[in-house]
Amino acid sequence: MAHHVLILGGTTEARQLAGRLAARKDLDVTLSLAGRTTNPVDQGVPVRIGGFGGADGLADYLRDNAIELLIDATHPFATRISPNAVTAAVKAGVPNLVLRRPQWQRQDGDRWAEVPTIEAAIAALGAAPRRVLVTLGRQELRPLENAPLHSYLVRSVDPVEPPVVAPDVRYILDRGPFKTANELELLKRERIDTILTKNSGGDAAYAKIAAARELGLTVVIVSRPPVVGEAVSSVSEAEQTVTHLFPPAT
Ligand code: NAP
Repeated sequence: MAHHVLILGGTTEARQLAGRLAARKDLDVTLSLAGRTTNPVDQGVPVRIGGFGGADGLADYLRDNAIELLIDATHPFATRISPNAVTAAVKAGVPNLVLRRPQWQRQDGDRWAEVPTIEAAIAALGAAPRRVLVTLGRQELRPLENAPLHSYLVRSVDPVEPPVVAPDVRYILDRGPFKTANELELLKRERIDTILTKNSGGDAAYAKIAAARELGLTVVIVSRPPVVGEAVSSVSEAEQTVTHLFPPAT
């Protein structure tokens, strides 16, 4: 009988882990997405889409589908689903493995203003007008309206609806992974002086940080919320843990 594994995803790591685990015939892997992105990239395994209805709903799903292992590989800034996963796993009596990519570390030459919240990030832009590249989630943009003096270039995967109400907001649609050379070109072309982003970690979105360092630009960066419980930090470590829990049949 195959072991049922549910991966809470929405990240590159979740997709990569799902692909590796699905290669094992004795694992039955389902990947769960919140449904935020209109055309998510092919995940390579069976996918279910949409919220569970809180921790209780997730616990019901785990029981109803005889899930034997829950893997929370959601984004570090997805702050509601992870505590729900902890609660649901306890209720359903299922182990919860957390995969959380490491955060970016400040390097020599970085000009970071580290802030705890998006509101604090907006305040940190200051009283003089700036030209800001904004790479926040579509749901996190409203606070920009409190600082209408700046010029904003907002990058997102899907269109921002409704648009931000401020005098100078433009939008670009793009999806990572991004390359440093392209980020340098964008930052120069748009005469950006500040990047407003979150410390998401990972490789796919790091290019803007490297480009900002090269150009000496300010990065206003929202710090990570704390991880609930223990976490592994790489796809390989997560795969090893799964191998330990469910040794492959020889
Ligand atoms: P969130 O605030 O933690 O979650 C909000 C609600 O969305 C949850 O309570 C849950 O609904 C549902 N949900 C979240 N992740 C889910 C998943 N993988 N499968 C099924 N339902 C899920 O999360 P968010 O910040 O809105 O992010 C949503 C998704 O986008 C996450 O899966 C995350 O991995 C991905 N993502 C987030 C960011 C970010 O910066 N926040 C960036 C890139 C990707 P119910 O309570 O109804 O179960």
